[in-house]
Amino acid sequence: MRQTITLTLLFAFFVTSAVGAAERPPNIVVLFADDLGYGDLGCFGNPTIRTPELDRMAAEGMKLTQFYSAAPVCTPSRAALMTGRLPIRSGMCSDKRRVLFPNSAGGIPESEVTIAEALKTAGYATACFGKWHLGHLPQYLPTNNGFNYYFGVPYSNDMHVVRRGDPPLPLMRNLKTIEAPAFQPTLTKRYTAEAIKFIKEHRDEPFFVYLPHTFPHIPLFASDEFLDKSPRGLYGDVVEELDWSVGEILQALRDLKLADQTLVIFTSDNGPWLTKKNEGGTAGLLRDGKGSTWEGGMREPTVAWWPGQIPAGSVSQKLGSTMDIFTTSLKLARVDVPADRIIDGVDLRPVLFDSGPSERKSVFYYRGQTLMAVRHGPWKAHLITRPAYGRGKPVTHDPPVLYHLDHDPSERFDLSADHPEVIAEIMQLVKKHRTELKPAASQLETMISTQ
Ligand code: MG
Repeated sequence: MRQTITLTLLFAFFVTSAVGAAERPPNIVVLFADDLGYGDLGCFGNPTIRTPELDRMAAEGMKLTQFYSAAPVCTPSRAALMTGRLPIRSGMCSDKRRVLFPNSAGGIPESEVTIAEALKTAGYATACFGKWHLGHLPQYLPTNNGFNYYFGVPYSNDMHVVRRGDPPLPLMRNLKTIEAPAFQPTLTKRYTAEAIKFIKEHRDEPFFVYLPHTFPHIPLFASDEFLDKSPRGLYGDVVEELDWSVGEILQALRDLKLADQTLVIFTSDNGPWLTKKNEGGTAGLLRDGKGSTWEGGMREPTVAWWPGQIPAGSVSQKLGSTMDIFTTSLKLARVDVPADRIIDGVDLRPVLFDSGPSERKSVFYYRGQTLMAVRHGPWKAHLITRPAYGRGKPVTHDPPVLYHLDHDPSERFDLSADHPEVIAEIMQLVKKHRTELKPAASQLETMISTQ
């Protein structure tokens, strides 16, 4: 009798385990650099920055050469990644000030559904390690926006300006400051160690790890192990340490036998900060950088990895966006995409797993709340152009200037005179977009009154 019970229990255990394994949705890991340029990785053509781990990740996975952030600066870009929506819809953008500051009163609205909140409903353990930049007041921090755990700095690492009244840069654990000023040379190492610890602790359940690095945003810091090592100088040291971090995380997943159950995506929030000269990166063959709606401001060096699912060594030229990470993750977790609002992200599974077509046909380029340009297929029309920094005035183009990005990724040759039909088609898209757009009250505007 006892033997029968034991056998029945054993059978039940194996059935449950098998069902559990089959039903477990994949882990999702998003590795997010800050101000890394399109041309800053070995696998994206940099001649002197050494990135063997990202190169290996690309060799084992997929390089995406036409993948965009949703804004050319930090705060709106991150809001879009977290919500799958253009920042104009959530109000996380402003024409007056482009990002949140330590004296800002605003942050990500409570009404937004973050990727972490959505994945949590499917039983995911969720954690954020690094730079948040969606509001530093308690209600806006990660642990009040779907993350079980947070370790990092709440905004950019240069935001400790004494004359503005900024406090020393805080390093936080959940809602508490644990170090101020944060000791920056070891931030990359500490984010990495914390992320790996979390992955180990949650190996038996699905997890979502969001690792938005502090660097290579300036001021640049690397740990002793990486300092003065790169042929590219300090900027290279910093990127090479980020590369090391990627390698550590992928190796931890391999060691834990989780590699074939985990989608990892590496990308950046916006283009390189060109006005920082040698302390900023390069957008390679793309025009301009951070703050700009030329390609260098928003096209990001992107690598996706999931052994056994994503074809090894593949290169996708299909359009993709950080907002698509939201929709793709929810689909993988079998969570309904919110139906009560417009979601701009599309499901990238056909591109990632089957080298199929992308549902994404267009890219909207905003600077603050102003629509500057639209890409449709290979064509990009600029309605307004403006230098990223400095005193340059915006120039409105009527008709828009037009570039064929597949032929001319550097946006050098205006073809508007030759292709009025393409401009007409893009202007139809603009009209449709503006009709369905109900801009939210800007959260970033609220901080103006606090200054
Ligand atoms: Mg940035």
